[in-house]
Amino acid sequence: MRSGLDEEAVKKLIQAGRVAKRAVDLAVKLVKHGVSVNYVATSIENYIREQGAEPAFPVNIGVNNVAAHYTPVYNDDSTIPEQGVVKIDIGVHVDGYIADTAVTIALSPVFEGLVEASRRALEKALEIVRPGIRALEIGKVVESTIRSYGFNPIRNLSGHGIERYTIHSGIVIPNYGDILARHRLLEGVYAIEPFATNGSGFVKELDIATIYSLRHAKTTLRGGAMSFYERVYRERLTLPFTLRWYASSVDEYNGLLKIVEELAGRKVLVKYPVLVEKTGGYVSQHEHTVVITERDVIVTTI
Ligand code: MN
Ligand code: MN
Repeated sequence: MRSGLDEEAVKKLIQAGRVAKRAVDLAVKLVKHGVSVNYVATSIENYIREQGAEPAFPVNIGVNNVAAHYTPVYNDDSTIPEQGVVKIDIGVHVDGYIADTAVTIALSPVFEGLVEASRRALEKALEIVRPGIRALEIGKVVESTIRSYGFNPIRNLSGHGIERYTIHSGIVIPNYGDILARHRLLEGVYAIEPFATNGSGFVKELDIATIYSLRHAKTTLRGGAMSFYERVYRERLTLPFTLRWYASSVDEYNGLLKIVEELAGRKVLVKYPVLVEKTGGYVSQHEHTVVITERDVIVTTI
């Protein structure tokens, strides 16, 4: 098969999806005003490991206008606020087979419409997804659903193809009717993830990154940078990670921050900047992973 989706692969994808779904259920229980974001992320990641799986990336916690790519840092003292929305984006892998799923929690009733917009957009997308569908068709449904609630889809964030040990394969599933997205979704694994906002509908990068990944490279690193690279690569290959997982004291954390800069300078590390809504709009997101086979669609994270 073209995508290499043999029985064993599908089994592991379903297993990852099941763990991810339960992790989302746990997230919904944990997110309450005043709870530390560090506690939320760590509890979910520990849960994933207890289930015999691994995080495919650090748990992303996006509060209000933060759309994506924020994971609590070492000694993060921020807490879930009283008002607004909280997005929890969770990745799980079993032997490199990935499930990617996200949920948004409204902290007050005034944001329930915004949350409903992305939830319903995802539902509608899942209703039409079938082997061979054009990515554009999904984008159209996502956009019209979000607009019917009076919100904007985020146009520069999209769903994506997934491959073994690779979260973003390069295949894009737009969140709007992008006429260029005429490619068909053939056999393979895909994440569909509508984002809705009361802002402009675009995200921008902040100058901070809390999530990184390694590039596969023959390096000429030495000392601490070399041993850190080897340690992370052995555990993660090129999957994203956070320094939270590797530091056990402030001094160690500060040392790792320096090493990260060295690795970035040597082009063997990628930084994922925090993404925020351009005009400060609040953002909601829902995401599921689908496995498309020759004839069927399996939603692994439901
Ligand atoms: Mn995700
Ligand atoms: Mn995703």
